Amino acid sequence: MKELISNDSPQMIRILDDVPISENVRSLAENLVNQIDRPVVFLINSDGKANYGNRNPHYQNQFWVTVKPQTKQGEFDRLVLAGLLRGVIDRKRMLYAFPTETFKETIDKYADNHRKSAIEMIDKINATASTIIAESYLEKYGIKTSNEILARLYESKISGLKEYLYLQDESSQKGSLFCWYKETEVQNILDFVNVGRRNKNYLEEIHRILEKTKPKEKRKTYLKQIDSLTAYINEVKEEITAENVEDINEQLLKVILKEFDLEADVQLKYYDLKEGEINVLQIGKAKVYSYIPDYIPNQAFLSRSMRYVREMICLIEEYAGMLDTNHVYPLVAANLIDSNYPSACSNGQKEKGYYISVMRGLFEQIKYRAENVHIAADIEKSFTYYFANDDIRESIYRYAVYFITAHEYGHIFNEDCEPDAMEQPDKEEAADAEACRLLYTLLMFQPKYHSTKIQNKFHKMQLDCVLCKMGIQLAHEFRKEKEGNV
Ligand SMILES: [Zn+2]
Repeated sequence: MKELISNDSPQMIRILDDVPISENVRSLAENLVNQIDRPVVFLINSDGKANYGNRNPHYQNQFWVTVKPQTKQGEFDRLVLAGLLRGVIDRKRMLYAFPTETFKETIDKYADNHRKSAIEMIDKINATASTIIAESYLEKYGIKTSNEILARLYESKISGLKEYLYLQDESSQKGSLFCWYKETEVQNILDFVNVGRRNKNYLEEIHRILEKTKPKEKRKTYLKQIDSLTAYINEVKEEITAENVEDINEQLLKVILKEFDLEADVQLKYYDLKEGEINVLQIGKAKVYSYIPDYIPNQAFLSRSMRYVREMICLIEEYAGMLDTNHVYPLVAANLIDSNYPSACSNGQKEKGYYISVMRGLFEQIKYRAENVHIAADIEKSFTYYFANDDIRESIYRYAVYFITAHEYGHIFNEDCEPDAMEQPDKEEAADAEACRLLYTLLMFQPKYHSTKIQNKFHKMQLDCVLCKMGIQLAHEFRKEKEGNV
């Protein structure tokens, strides 16, 4: 376990059981994973620049938690949890800082170094807000940045600051004064605030060294910015709760932009969360979302259901193409339609991308059926040895959702959902056949089989096959009962 954290090569892990976190934080981590509306992929020992959690830019259906090697187990645990927390927050309508169009044009004209600094400034502003929110949450569970990490951060900031003073002295002797770009200033001040707000001695020392920077007017501004942001953050941190994170995040970003006079250059926008209206044959217009909107009841259930939809899409995107190189398996985005009507649909086109949208009513009805489906006594008896009864029915539900998703994917794969496709009389049966083919081919690739805990692996596989068949049958019957195309 240890070597994973230190000098090992990067590893992609798809199951929380295999992530080398401490046992005492495992249930908290599991709780967070279960709140994320897409499958989580852990990139451990990443050589990437930052420890972070974000939606994968290529595979939109996955949430990635990236953690660099750490020498301290506690720090590794904290970074995994903070990454997962970002996944929970990502489900909410959170604002992010983006450069305005005019500022983007300005940045493009900058020299390389300057441009890089401007882009990093935007990242730093977003990271500062999300770090404060993640920290405040984790502190409630007693998980804090260790003193060693803070000391290391402080040392690196102080040595950077001393180097800056040296460069300023050297340049002023030559008759010019070396100064940070404004974008570099913002990043540095945010870093100083980040270190100083957690340790008074560090804050005093940062103050003392900054007093030596030139020119005088700038130095005053730096100190004022550090003091007012530190005070604001310490105050707002205490107020964060699960209910107000969106509001606090917005306030925090606005205060940062105002403090650095960036309001004209940086705007706050929602990142990649889409909502709109869709016209569905049976119900007319309905609201469609790429996330779970706050007003919808039963969010945990819908979040889990959308995760199942995305798990199936991920399996297809990642493995179907690998196993079958003769066909193209397009990338697909998943949506939730807020309607009681129990249906699902696929739409889109080659050039613009594809969508699978599932109505809330379909999840609810399929869940009800999975809870009430007859399970033969002998099957139940042999399987409850490995699983709780709830897990058996939840698995049937999950496979039914997999089947529905694969069926919709079948329409995309068979190209009968393209806007100009001719109506094919047997397209529903063809999509079912495609769904069965995909499910049985990909069943083995589910992340759980990558687990190192293999004691019950084969029994679980056997069980999964039976449950999968039940789930498929349930969904298949449901679809056939309904009139019209789904
Ligand atoms: Zn269909």
